[in-house]
Amino acid sequence: MVHLTDGESTRAVPDSHRRGIPGSKYRQRVTYHFYTELYRDPDLAEGEDYARRYRRHGRFDDELAQPGGIEKTAVIAPHGGGIETGTSELCLAVAGYHPATLEVTPPGGVTYDYWMFEGLRAGGNASLHVTSTGCDDGVALSLCGGALNALALHGCTTAAAGQPAGSQIVLVGGRNQTFKQYLLAAFANQQLAAVDAWNIKALNGDDRDNIVNRTLLGMGGHLELTTPLRLAMFDVNTREERKHTTTPVFWAFVTACRAAVARLEAEQVVR
Ligand SMILES: [Zn+2]
Repeated sequence: MVHLTDGESTRAVPDSHRRGIPGSKYRQRVTYHFYTELYRDPDLAEGEDYARRYRRHGRFDDELAQPGGIEKTAVIAPHGGGIETGTSELCLAVAGYHPATLEVTPPGGVTYDYWMFEGLRAGGNASLHVTSTGCDDGVALSLCGGALNALALHGCTTAAAGQPAGSQIVLVGGRNQTFKQYLLAAFANQQLAAVDAWNIKALNGDDRDNIVNRTLLGMGGHLELTTPLRLAMFDVNTREERKHTTTPVFWAFVTACRAAVARLEAEQVVR
């Protein structure tokens, strides 16, 4: 799957040779096909070039007569930080944690497992983009693989989305058709523009190998937010300031996602 990140094409080029750019702080590489390939690159440093953050909630059952349970939903942002800006903050908030403080938000609210891969560079984050079908991060695979549902937050340009310039809209994809319908309804309730992404092949999250579909049910929900929509979610669009400057649009979007997840989970009985 090809994603177009903010203003930058990440379409894979046939060869994968490094392209050293003299004087460039960030040596350009054409593409990484898998996260493990990126993690092995000795030229990249975790904590400087990229970060991985996740939360896995503990569960146990020591009672003989008590039914067991599993996590029903995991929230992921495979292209967070500076790769598809705003998606880290959304991932945290949809999972129930304020992006600035990590406090449970709203207080006492439901929380979900989450996983994010984030670009930390001041620039050149697009080269850290690994396609969703190439996501072989062990934590991501185990979180999604152990949950009934996954919800992925992504960012795209209006051009890639087939929308007029300036459109604030979310494309709703993924293989779980029920989840898609609930997401579309929830966005409508919050007066957020949303369309079914079924006919936008590069962005519809329909591939079985897409990390969001590698759940216990083999399907998930894949959201692509246009750049103008994500820009409307923050007063200051920098990695340092986004989490401190979320707007009502941000929280309306978060509310919609959480409502759709809650509606989906309410119908799911774990045996
Ligand atoms: Zn993406």
